[in-house]
Amino acid sequence: MIPIAKPYLTEVEAKAAHDTILTGWITQGPRVNEFEEKFARYTGAKYAVALSNCTTALHLAMIVAGVGKGDEVICPSMSYIATANSIMYVGAEPVFAEVDPTTYNIDPEDAERRITPRTKAILIVHQIGMPADIDAFKAICDKHNLVLIEDAACAAGSSYKGGKIGSHSDLVCFSFHPRKVITTGDGGMLTTNNEQFYHRLKLLRQHGMSVNDRVRHESAKVIMEDHLEVGYNYRLTDIQAAVGIKQLERLDEIIAERNKIAQRYLRELADVPGIRLPHLPAECTTNWQSFSIYLLPECKVERNDLMQRLLDAGVASRRGIMTSHRETAYKNNGKAYHLPISEDAADRSIIIPLYVPMSDEDIAYVIQQFKACISA
Ligand SMILES: *Cc1c(COP(=O)(O)O)cnc(C)c1O
Repeated sequence: MIPIAKPYLTEVEAKAAHDTILTGWITQGPRVNEFEEKFARYTGAKYAVALSNCTTALHLAMIVAGVGKGDEVICPSMSYIATANSIMYVGAEPVFAEVDPTTYNIDPEDAERRITPRTKAILIVHQIGMPADIDAFKAICDKHNLVLIEDAACAAGSSYKGGKIGSHSDLVCFSFHPRKVITTGDGGMLTTNNEQFYHRLKLLRQHGMSVNDRVRHESAKVIMEDHLEVGYNYRLTDIQAAVGIKQLERLDEIIAERNKIAQRYLRELADVPGIRLPHLPAECTTNWQSFSIYLLPECKVERNDLMQRLLDAGVASRRGIMTSHRETAYKNNGKAYHLPISEDAADRSIIIPLYVPMSDEDIAYVIQQFKACISA
């Protein structure tokens, strides 16, 4: 059985976790600090704040962006549902925009059309690692005085116009869930170039506490902390950060391997009729978090049948990116959504296995079975 994905974890990460446990400092502490500094340096952002996962990063991004009750935030429906949920957490309303059917990324023109006087921010998603057109959205946000937020959950190591994702704007949220390219079990990071955001994010992730545990622990003087606002416990642990540091050291190597596999899929599936392979926009690189194939209307096999045939042949697959507006949590809220491009893209796409290390035989088998199952 060939799985859809596998985290790339070795003795190196296991030892890092082991060693951290034995230091006695296991929640947010020196390893978290080191992970943040290294992640900021890697992405080219001024600051990085480690958080418990990407969903909590998105929640804090909404808060520091000033999004609240009665506000609207434009985002794609076609994304993992956490994107839209983060807007609901602060009492605001997600306004779903369409995606570009070739990249699955939010369409700037459609997003701009949906701006109203209540719009406060635009939340773009770099779908399955493929960068959205950040500059187009920066221009729209500048023009309409909106905050830009990036859901880069899947996009660690991808780049846009020569800069790593994380360096371009002030609220960029990453995930280290095992389904992403590097993992800490669960975990998240928010990068920013805005010093005020940085300080507030650090307060908010630790109960609004004016001094963090580590400063108090290391101080020779008694320190009385204050809690400056209602905060959260969105900390990452040092055990996770120790794993993250080791994963980050290998991120470029992991992406190079993923790229090799993706290029082979692109080459060897190029002549399969009835499908559209992923399209990489100019001036972008992707980490290939997933490899999604769109089944054209002339494709002879239904997507779900294709998935079953592949499974019968020992190859796991997944439906493409979901839409949020058709999930029960959103579909009965009395709003009428018209998102035919997103629905079509979600219903006609399929994700095939891609992970590191993946043997040449396994890659060849996926290609062979995909061709066989789709032509039958
Ligand atoms: C995975 C994912 C999330 C959620 O990340 P967690 O770290 O699991 O909270 C949010 N948005 C997108 C686009 C994702 O793919």
